[in-house]
Amino acid sequence: MPQDLPSGINPRGDRRSRRFVLAVECIFNQNARINGAAAWPAMNLELVRICERHGAGIVQIRCPEMHCLGWARKTAPGVWLREAMEREPALGKLHELAASVAEQTQDYLANGYRPMAVLGANPRSPGCAVHHEGDGLAANSGVFILCLAEEFRRRGLEIPFRGIRDCDPKLMTEDLEWLEALLTKEQK
Ligand code: SF4
Repeated sequence: MPQDLPSGINPRGDRRSRRFVLAVECIFNQNARINGAAAWPAMNLELVRICERHGAGIVQIRCPEMHCLGWARKTAPGVWLREAMEREPALGKLHELAASVAEQTQDYLANGYRPMAVLGANPRSPGCAVHHEGDGLAANSGVFILCLAEEFRRRGLEIPFRGIRDCDPKLMTEDLEWLEALLTKEQK
């Protein structure tokens, strides 16, 4: 455990839980989504409430599509968004983002914090879909999610991935129940 910072900053004592989830940007900022894809005016408040209830902070991952192609997701004529993300220079930017998230996660771990989960997005998201196959992620998961899983694997980090599928109320309920169960179980 590293040295603590000077004490006495908070008269009530330091109350942090040392737990957090990593979550893609649009969960808390629907403005990141392409037109027609926003499920709320601003954010998934229920997910925020679950994290708050169970003492888990939230590390927001910059929207990967915006990171590599800008908000307008400009691609060459006839090139689908996923295809564009699988090509350079977009792919290189996704790898950089994944490396930076993995480094940040490792830094937290080295300092005594617990990353509980990576929360991605809808099943058809070219950047952030999460599909499972066997013990790992399926190839049709989002391009960024695959880059991040690869970075985690390379660094020996084992953190569960889950898509938060707000495109369907039933699926979203399943995902939120999964998160709540995980945070409840890991609290004990
Ligand atoms: S799902 Fe991922 S790529 Fe799509 S808007 Fe959300 S953060 Fe951006």
